[in-house]
Amino acid sequence: MTARLAVLSGPGGVGKSTVVSALRKMLPGWAVSVSATTRAARPGERDGVDYHFVTDEQFDQLIADGAFLEWANFGGNRYGTLWSSVREPLASGRSVLLEIEIQGALAVKKEFPDAVLIFLHPPHFDTLRARLHDRGTDAPERVRERLALAEWELAQSTAFDHHVTNDDVEAAAARTAEILRGLATPD
Ligand code: 5GP
Repeated sequence: MTARLAVLSGPGGVGKSTVVSALRKMLPGWAVSVSATTRAARPGERDGVDYHFVTDEQFDQLIADGAFLEWANFGGNRYGTLWSSVREPLASGRSVLLEIEIQGALAVKKEFPDAVLIFLHPPHFDTLRARLHDRGTDAPERVRERLALAEWELAQSTAFDHHVTNDDVEAAAARTAEILRGLATPD
């Protein structure tokens, strides 16, 4: 089998991480990259599992060391994909899935033109708004910033190879799994 690099992206709050949780069970052979972030851990998040939670200084050092395939500012924090979390699985023949925001997805496509970009769409913009509010972990001005960014992000979706609507988490994960299984075709 050919190991592939795939990116699941879409607006913040669209439910990418929930879809990825469901996908892990559907695609046990795939590695899911763990990003580094300067954001504080939310309740229930585990260091090294959900993210590598790092300080600003540590993030600066990782940039200086050339440790990132890509990194981006999002909502006042920095997030980055470590080369190690892509290179190591690929070198051992495992396909890798990244769950990152859109600037990062486009940067990965530049570096890896064969990477497959999947855009996760919200069923309705209002649903996205409700999710951002309901999460209740962000300040109101942060919610507004994230909505404005989400509008821009939706406009970028034309650059993506595949489109999945997150109307239902299990169904969206199943459609994404189908796309990803189709990529890892026998040589
Ligand atoms: P959250 O703070 O909600 O976990 O993530 C905020 C946004 O950052 C999400 O859209 C998520 O996909 C994105 N993100 C997570 N890790 C990375 C990364 O390594 N690089 C980029 N560019 N975005 C990331």
